[in-house]
Amino acid sequence: MLIDSFDRRVDYLRISVTERCNFRCQYCMPEKPFSWVPKENILRFEELFAFVKVCIDEGINKVRITGGEPLLREDIHHFIGMIYTYKNDIDLAMTTNGYLLKQSAQKLYDAGLKRINVSIDTLRPHVAQQIAQKDVLGNVLEGVNEALRVGLRVKINMVPMKGLNDNEILDVLEYCKVRGMSVRFIEYMENVHAQVDIEGMKSKELLTVIGSKYHYTDEGFDGHSPSHYYQLDDGYRFGIIEPYNDDFCSTCNRIRLTAEGLLIPCLYFDEAMSIKEAVQSGNIAQAALILKEVVRTKPEKNRWGDTEGEVSKRAFYETGG
Ligand code: SAM
Ligand code: SF4
Repeated sequence: MLIDSFDRRVDYLRISVTERCNFRCQYCMPEKPFSWVPKENILRFEELFAFVKVCIDEGINKVRITGGEPLLREDIHHFIGMIYTYKNDIDLAMTTNGYLLKQSAQKLYDAGLKRINVSIDTLRPHVAQQIAQKDVLGNVLEGVNEALRVGLRVKINMVPMKGLNDNEILDVLEYCKVRGMSVRFIEYMENVHAQVDIEGMKSKELLTVIGSKYHYTDEGFDGHSPSHYYQLDDGYRFGIIEPYNDDFCSTCNRIRLTAEGLLIPCLYFDEAMSIKEAVQSGNIAQAALILKEVVRTKPEKNRWGDTEGEVSKRAFYETGG
């Protein structure tokens, strides 16, 4: 079992399988980065899988594949199949922008994927074009329909931003509600890679909008999920991720692995250790030691809530969010 210095059990690994993306979301990767990690530096699926096995053997029971855009990585369903075959009761999920989901949903499901989070910030094509800097909405909505059709459990992620999509909170909530999908509103997290003029909506503001139409009750936190949950009177639950609130960290159970093998203890900070050499040389014992050391050094909390002019340098497209 992996326990950090603040007595939190770490049982959740998020793997960013590529930092590349086919969108240029204003809050994440508004421009193509100067230097992509060269393709030859990216771990092969066999290498990533060697590390996933170490993690599972040490007590990880939840794995999420993310990116960049994970569906850009050819044959990603094979990687999912490897993990599922190793431990079929693992909670295996993916986060995607949904653009390529229509053609891959069935393969992902057949390989063992159970749940998928799709990022939908707007239901208006021209706003989607503005946020992602590409005409994306049609493909994304078709991808969601296909994911539901093949039997994946779908959750929607929305980052509400003032002047962009702040008037669509209820529309997105209702789009999800009628389709039986949960929605999580993610407070915009500042980072040096994002466009500078973005102003996110805070949880209080979101709740005012939702409260203008629905009565809801505060359900608090649920297990290790970073979401603060709320329930409408008809039983529909939605979540808000509030990184500026310390509660976000007190139950944190996750570590992150990048495509080039950096193991990251906290989304906010730059600190990381590489497992690349260990897995490429087949030194599994060394990979396990690095895993334990990263868990040991996991900070108590992020600094989104208490920064004084300091902004996170971590790129969401590198860490997978
Ligand atoms: N490309 C995939 C996608 O967009 O879903 C997976 C990677 S993306 C980095 C994972 C999640 O991080 C998405 O839901 C995205 O909205 C969220 N995200 C990216 N940058 C963010 C930011 N600055 N603040 C809050 N959420 C962010
Ligand atoms: Fe790409 Fe996802 Fe970042 Fe948007 S949020 S640029 S889709 S990685």
